[in-house]
Amino acid sequence: MQIENGSLRLARILGIDVFVHWSWLVIALLEYQTRDRQRYQAPGWYVAEYLSLFGIVLLHEFGHALACRQVGGTANRIMLWPLGGIAYVSPPPRPGAWLWSIAAGPLVNVALLPITIGAFVAASAVGWEQSLPDAYRYLLTLAAINGVLLVFNLLPLYPLDGGQILQSLLWFVIGRSKSLLVVSVIGLIGGAGLIGLGLVSGDWWLAILAVFLASRCWLGFQQARAMARALEAPRRTGLACPSCGQAPRHGPFWRCGRCGRQFDLFETQGLCPGCGVVVAETECGDCQRRHSLAAYR
Ligand SMILES: [Zn+2]
Ligand SMILES: [Zn+2]
Ligand SMILES: [Zn+2]
Repeated sequence: MQIENGSLRLARILGIDVFVHWSWLVIALLEYQTRDRQRYQAPGWYVAEYLSLFGIVLLHEFGHALACRQVGGTANRIMLWPLGGIAYVSPPPRPGAWLWSIAAGPLVNVALLPITIGAFVAASAVGWEQSLPDAYRYLLTLAAINGVLLVFNLLPLYPLDGGQILQSLLWFVIGRSKSLLVVSVIGLIGGAGLIGLGLVSGDWWLAILAVFLASRCWLGFQQARAMARALEAPRRTGLACPSCGQAPRHGPFWRCGRCGRQFDLFETQGLCPGCGVVVAETECGDCQRRHSLAAYR
């Protein structure tokens, strides 16, 4: 067992590390408290419900991860949060590849709709509401969980799946940095609205979630502006990407993976002025292929 940033490594499936966030414990406690409401007669059904929520979120994240690999990207870790996990996917920087990697998650929930709803309808038809009330309520809850996760993840608020799908679609038309700028601004406005709604209605869970969304949008906004600045910077003479022949830009557009310092990679021959680490290879800003610095001639 391995613990990292408040998360527990649960398993490694198909070469993907599955981590569980501590907030699942909160959900388990809430589940435990709902026992008072006596939704089920046998307590085992609460466990089944909890594990089912877990399983649906896991399937959703594997949808993202496997789709990302299918289009040639890397995906090697999944973090499970109660309201949908985070698959650490890096698809190739093409709008089509991003669109498929993001859309595949909600599509798993779409595929589960006929199964979960069908099971509930079948249970109603054979009279489980009277004969097996626990199983009947479990199937109803299962269909509801899947439906709620689908609708929530499709809200067009970056970085929820819906917001990222919107970004990929805009990317086809206005490019990567402008599409990120647009969805970040929409997300900031939507996030502010949700924070207000959460405070007015006293729904702290919603307010906290909205603060998280808005902070991610703020990062996206800054990232989009940095990308736009890099696109306007002059090119360096005498160096060219071995794949596309374009010269890299002048300016501090590289971020050190170790200390976070922004610097001009070609100015210092890869040496980070912050921590002294030497970066040996980089991604071309034009064709996004990776090459060693020495290959730029
Ligand atoms: Zn998702
Ligand atoms: Zn550094
Ligand atoms: Zn290139």
